[in-house]
Amino acid sequence: MHTLQKLLQDCDAIEKVIDLKRKDAARAKAASHRRNAFENRATGCKLHQCRVVIKAGASLDSFIAVSSFDITKANQETTYRCDVHDASGRRELRYVVSSTTGHRKPSETANWAAMALLLPAMLSGKALNIQGSVSALLLHFLRSDLQDLLMHFNSSLKRIDVEADIAPAEGRSCGALRVGTGFSAGIDSFSALRSFRQSGVSACLDVTDLMTFGVGAFGESGGRGTEEAFTKAAARTAAYAQELGVEAHSVRSNLTHFYDRSQGLGFTRTHTLRNASAASLFERELDIYLYASAFAYPELDLTATDYMGHLDPVLLPLLSTTDLRFISAGAGSDRIRKTELLADDTVAQGLLDVCVTPPLKRAAMVGPGRNCSQCWKCYRTMLTLDALGKLERFAAIFDLEYYHQNKAGVLRTLRQRGQKGSKLDKAAVDLYLASPACNHPSAHQMVR
Ligand SMILES: [Zn+2]
Repeated sequence: MHTLQKLLQDCDAIEKVIDLKRKDAARAKAASHRRNAFENRATGCKLHQCRVVIKAGASLDSFIAVSSFDITKANQETTYRCDVHDASGRRELRYVVSSTTGHRKPSETANWAAMALLLPAMLSGKALNIQGSVSALLLHFLRSDLQDLLMHFNSSLKRIDVEADIAPAEGRSCGALRVGTGFSAGIDSFSALRSFRQSGVSACLDVTDLMTFGVGAFGESGGRGTEEAFTKAAARTAAYAQELGVEAHSVRSNLTHFYDRSQGLGFTRTHTLRNASAASLFERELDIYLYASAFAYPELDLTATDYMGHLDPVLLPLLSTTDLRFISAGAGSDRIRKTELLADDTVAQGLLDVCVTPPLKRAAMVGPGRNCSQCWKCYRTMLTLDALGKLERFAAIFDLEYYHQNKAGVLRTLRQRGQKGSKLDKAAVDLYLASPACNHPSAHQMVR
C-alpha cells in the first residue's frame, strides 16, 4: 500500500512537470539551468524530468516504473541515480563516475537506465515504464530487434512493452536526421523501410533517402542487359521515393571488374561490402544507413559459404564511420514474419519484386512489372503467401494460375532446397504444411 501511495505521489509530480514541459520558454530555461549547473559544478541539479504518465489504474504487478532521475556532483564524483519501483517496493539504481576529465559532459538522457533495466524487466515479463528521455533510435530497438536478439540468447526472457519519452537529437531538430536504405522492392527491402517509417517511436526515424546501387546486383559492369536492368531499378526507386516524399539516389560503378567470381568473390558472397562502399559516398549527407537483413539473428553464421548476409549483424558495425552508421535492419524478424507484415501493404501488392530470373528473360516471359513465378524465390514467396492466406492479393505481380497448377512442383523444389540446407525454404514448406491452405492430396507425401 505504501508503494502505491508513493507511486501516486510520483504521478502528481509527473503531471506538474508535464505542465511545465508544455511551455517552451520553461523548457529552454530548464535546459539552460542544466548546462550552467554543470559548468559551475553545482550539486543537486536535476537533469532528467519525467514526462511519461503512468496510466490510470495501471498496477505495479504489470510494470516496472523508473523515475526520479537525478545527477549530483560532489567530491570530484558524478552520481547518477533513479528510483526503480515494482510490486516489491522501491530501490535506487545508482552509478558513480570518477573521471580525469571531471565528466564535464554528463548524459542528459535516461538511455543508461533503459539499457540497464531491459534484461531484468524482460526476465520478470513486466513492462518497463521509464519516466525520462530515451534516444529515439535506442527506443526503437529496445522495442524490437534488441528484444528478439536477447530472447534467442536467453529463452527465459519475455517480450515486454517499453515506454519512455523521446530525447531530442543532440544539436539538431527532428527532421534533420537523414536515414537511407537501398530499395530493391524485395521483402527484406520493404521490411527495412517499414521498420523505420512505421516504427511508432518517432517521426525522426522516418527513412529520408532511397538508394539504388549498381555494384553487381544487376550483373557485370558492361554486361548484356546490366545497364538496362540498373536503369529500370533506379527509375522504380525514384518513382517510389517521389510517392513517399523522400529523396532518391543511384550509383553505378565498374566495381564488378575487381571482384572475380571464380575466386569466390561473386555478388552473393560479397554484397555487403560492395553496397556499403556505395552508401559511404553519402557519409556527409546521411546519418544512418539501414542495410536490409536477409537473415534473422539465429541464422548468423560466420562460416557460411553462400551469402555474406549471414555476417551482417557483426560486419555492419565494423563498416560504420564517424559520420555514417550502418545498421542491420529487420534481423529480429524471420522471412515469414516479414512476409506476413508486408502482405497487407497495398503498395507491396503491386510492386513486390522477389524474382531471381534475369530481368531481360523475365520481361520476355511475363512482361514488365511481374515476377516470373517459376524461380525458387518466386516459389518460396508464393508458397508463404498461400500459407498465410494472402496470395490472392498479389495476383497483379505473380502468375497465380501457374502456381496453383504446379503446386506439386513448387513443393518439390523447395523441399529439395531445404534438404540442401536452405532454412528459409524449409520454413516455408513447414509453414505451408501446417496451414489451412495445404489441401493438396499428396502434399505431405511429397515432402517426406
Ligand atoms: Zn521468379
